Amino acid sequence: MKTHARVVVIGGGVVGVGTLYHLAKKGWSDVVLVERTELTAGSTWHAAGLLPLFNMSYTVGQLHKYSVDLYKSLEEETGQDVSFHVNGNLRLACSRDRMDEYHKYCGTANTIGVPFEIITPQEVKELWPLCETDDLVGALYHPDDGHIAPVDVTNAMAKGARNRGAEIYLRTEVLGVEAQFGGEWLIKTNKGDITCEHVVCATGNYARQTGHLFGIEVPAVPVQHQYIVTDVCEELKAYRDGGGRELAVLRESDASYYLREERLGYILGPYEAGAPAVFADGVPETFGQDLFPGDLDRLMPHVEAAIKRVPSFEKVGIKDIVNGPISYTPDGSPLIGPAWGLRNVWLNEGHSFGVTAAGGAGWQLAEWIVEGEPGIDMLATDPRRFGPYTSKAYTVKKNEETYRNVFTVHYPDEEREDARPAKTSPIYDKLDRLGAVWGQRYGWERPNWFAPPGML
Ligand SMILES: Cc1cc2nc3c(=O)[nH]c(=O)nc-3n(C[C@H](O)[C@H](O)[C@H](O)COP(=O)(O)OP(=O)(O)OC[C@H]3O[C@@H](n4cnc5c(N)ncnc54)[C@H](O)[C@@H]3O)c2cc1C
Repeated sequence: MKTHARVVVIGGGVVGVGTLYHLAKKGWSDVVLVERTELTAGSTWHAAGLLPLFNMSYTVGQLHKYSVDLYKSLEEETGQDVSFHVNGNLRLACSRDRMDEYHKYCGTANTIGVPFEIITPQEVKELWPLCETDDLVGALYHPDDGHIAPVDVTNAMAKGARNRGAEIYLRTEVLGVEAQFGGEWLIKTNKGDITCEHVVCATGNYARQTGHLFGIEVPAVPVQHQYIVTDVCEELKAYRDGGGRELAVLRESDASYYLREERLGYILGPYEAGAPAVFADGVPETFGQDLFPGDLDRLMPHVEAAIKRVPSFEKVGIKDIVNGPISYTPDGSPLIGPAWGLRNVWLNEGHSFGVTAAGGAGWQLAEWIVEGEPGIDMLATDPRRFGPYTSKAYTVKKNEETYRNVFTVHYPDEEREDARPAKTSPIYDKLDRLGAVWGQRYGWERPNWFAPPGML
C-alpha cells in the first residue's frame, strides 16, 4: 500500500469509484481508494439499477444526464459489460396538476438538453400494452434512459480508474484522520497510514461516522427503501415471446411507485409513507452487507395500486423483498463539494439516486478538485447549503419527510412542514399574529406572504 497519494477516496461504492475514475481521467494518476470491505458492499449491491433522467433540479439533472451518457460508453472503454438496458422511462399523470408538473420539468429538460416526449394515454398503451390507461391525462417519456447493473457499472469504473494508474485497497478501513502542519492529511487505516493532499468522503450510510472523524456533522441519514421482486408473469412472458420490446420503467407518480421488468417478472419499488430513518447514530458493526426484514404492510397500498394499473400483476407471486438503507439529506439532493471549515476535504455523500448520479458527481467533483472549480453550477448540491441547524433530530425528521414526498406533485415554491420552526427571529410571534405564511431558508423561518384576516 502506498504511504503517500495526491487524493485518498474513502468508500468503494458506486459513488467513490466514480470519483476515483474521474480523478484518474483528469490525469491525476496518484490517487487511491480505500474500502473497508469489498467494492459495492454498501447500498450499491442491492440497488434496483434504475437510471431516471427526470429531475427537477438543473444541477442534479445535468449530473444524471452525464452518467447516462458515460455508462453507455463504459463497456467499449473497459471491456466490462454493464447490462445497460435502454428501455426508457415512462411517468404517468392521473391529474392535470401532475401534467403541469411535467410541463414545468420540460423547461429544465430543454435547458440541459435531456430528450423527452409528452405523450397521450393512447401512446402510453402502445408503449406499455399491459397497463390500463383509461384514467390517465398523459405521460412524460424519456426514451434514452433505463436500468443498469449497479455492481457491473462500479466494476467498470474501477477498471477504467486502475487502467489510468489509480489504486484500490480493499479490506482497508479508515479509523482516524489527522491534519498535518504542512496542510496535508494523514489518513489512518487498519493497514497503515497514507499521507495525502486531498480526501474525498464517499461512504454512503457511514457518512455521519466519517464526518465525525473530521469533526463535522454531515446531514445524511439513511431511510429504509424496499422493493419487491416477483416470479415470472405469464402475460408479460407471452408479450415478450410474441416479440414485444422490453417495457419502459413505469412510474405511477400519483401512487408513488416504480415498476420494471426483471427476468420476465417485475420489480416494484414504492416510496411509502412511514418508512423509518435508520443508522442516525451510525451503522452497527453487525450490519455488514445485510438487509432489513421486508414490511408488507407498508408495501400493500402500492401493490394494490400496481394491480389496478397492471392487472396481470395480481397473479404474480412475490419472490423476494429487498429492504435496504438509502442515504438521504434534508432536501433530497446529495452533498457534492467541499466540506465546510476544512481544507481539501471533499464530500460525495447523501446520495439517494447514487447509481444514477455517480458518474456525474464524480465528474464534477474531480473538476472541482483538479481545476479549482466545477464546470457547472453546483449550488443545489453544495454541502455548505446546510448549517448547524441540521442536527441529528432535524435530519431524521426531514429525511423521512423527503422520502415520502419523492413522488408528490412538486409545486413551485414548495414548502414542507416537518422539523419546523428550526430558527426564528425575535419578531416571529408578532409576524405570525399578522398572518405570516411561513417559508424556510437555511433553517430560518421568514414570511413568504401575509394572508388577509380570516383566510388562514
Ligand atoms: C432498495 C434500494 C434500491 C435502490 N435503487 C436505486 C436505483 O434504482 N437507482 C439509483 O440510482 N439508486 C438506487 N438506490 C440508491 C443507491 O443504492 C445508493 O444511492 C448508492 O448505492 C450509494 O452509493 P455510495 O457509493 O454513495 O454508497 P455505498 O454503496 O453505501 O458505499 C459506501 C462504501 O463506503 C465504505 N466505507 C464506509 N466507511 C468507510 C471507512 N471508514 N473506510 C473505508 N470504507 C468505508 C462502505 O463499506 C461502502 O462500501 C437504491 C437503494 C436501495 C436501498
